[in-house]
Parts: sequence; structure tokens; C-alpha cells
Amino acid sequence: MSEQSLDSRLAVIALGSNIGDTKAYVTGAAEAVANLEGVTLVKMSKLYQSEPAHLVDQDIFTNAVMTVRVDNSLSTIDLLHQLQAIEINFHRVRHEHWGPRTLDLDIIDVQGELSDTDELRIPHPYALVRDFVVTPLLEIAPGYVLADGSPVSRDTVQYGAVISVDD
Ligand code: AMP
Repeated sequence: MSEQSLDSRLAVIALGSNIGDTKAYVTGAAEAVANLEGVTLVKMSKLYQSEPAHLVDQDIFTNAVMTVRVDNSLSTIDLLHQLQAIEINFHRVRHEHWGPRTLDLDIIDVQGELSDTDELRIPHPYALVRDFVVTPLLEIAPGYVLADGSPVSRDTVQYGAVISVDD
């Protein structure tokens, strides 16, 4: 199947949580994303446990990555706003940048699109250095190439090491 078609495009979304019932948050959020109008699930990764990326005195994270097709009637900014609404629905708590959060949803990549504004940077600038993004993405989309032409590989990973995976 081609990555792009006339009426939709492939997008990669990363999910993470490190407060409360993290697995339930990630699973529930993935379901909410897949149920959005104009969004169709392609593949959902397993759930991964990973080390906190920046502040070491945090609980471990549950992470996952999903690929979806986004109808061209839904702009990527509107998709971002829908993801932010899902974060709020999950009672996101965020006291500090990089700090603990009930739920974090990031757009990692949208095929055929580049954006470099504060509101939306795609491909996500940290995508290739975060093990908790790279490893689940390679599970569901081996050989994936970001919209800017960068191949996704474990060679570039710098932090957020995956500790275990739920089979
Ligand atoms: P954070 O919660 O730390 O992930 O940051 C959220 C902020 O990042 C919001 O203001 C978003 O508009 C902005 N942002 C920029 N690029 C992205 C992206 N690719 N995915 C999600 N949020 C993004």
C-alpha cells in the first residue's frame, strides 16, 4: 500500500504516561485517537516500559506508538488539537517541562508534510533520539522513513531506553 493516497495520509503518533495506571491511560488514549473522526488505525505497537528521558527521579513510563491514516479533510493542526483534547480528558497533570504527565501525545511524523512552527514541529525534533519512540515505531513499521527523508534506526537513539515490553 502506498504511504500517501489522494484522500488520506499516514501519520505516526507517540503515546506516553508515567502517573497512575499508565498502561490503562495509554491503551485508552490509543482507542480515543483511533475513534477520532477522520482517523483510521493502521497499527498499534505493544506497550513498552521506558526510563524517564530527562528527570531521573520520575517513575518509569509506559509508551507506545501508533500509525494512523488521517483523512485529508482533517488538517494536521486540527489533529493536534484533537490530541490535546484527549490529553485534557485524561486529566493530564504537567507541573514542569519534561516532568511527570498522565498522558502525552506527540505527532511524530506525517507523510508528505514538514512543519517548523512552535505549535507544530514535524517530523518531531526528538523522534530519532528517543528509544521509546524508535523501538515501538520499528516494531510496527520496519524501515520507516520520516517525511524529511531520515530513516528511523536504533543507531541514533540517545535516551529513554526501553526496559521491557508487554507481549
Ligand atoms: P509537550 O506537552 O511537552 O509535548 O509540549 C506540548 C507543546 O508542543 C504544545 O504547545 C504543542 O503545540 C507543541 N508541539 C510542537 N510540535 C509538536 C508535535 N509534533 N506534537 C505534539 N506537540 C507539538
